[in-house]
Amino acid sequence: MVKRKSWVWDYAKREGDRAFCDLCDSENNNEYSCVGGTTGSLIRHLQNCHGIKAPEESIRKRPDKITPNRTIAV
Ligand SMILES: [Zn+2]
Repeated sequence: MVKRKSWVWDYAKREGDRAFCDLCDSENNNEYSCVGGTTGSLIRHLQNCHGIKAPEESIRKRPDKITPNRTIAV
């Protein structure tokens, strides 16, 4: 399975199991755990402290594409 890069890495760096917010000063407490690829705490931080919201495609993984052989009657 291919690892999909999360949008949070546009704003943070990852080192091993830790994530560091790029938007915060490194002197501040900008370390977040991302063990197992969990970026929930970092996402919450970006939203609350920097007003950055997750792109819609990251929130909902609903396939919007309509397959050719599955025509919906209009
Ligand atoms: Zn930050």
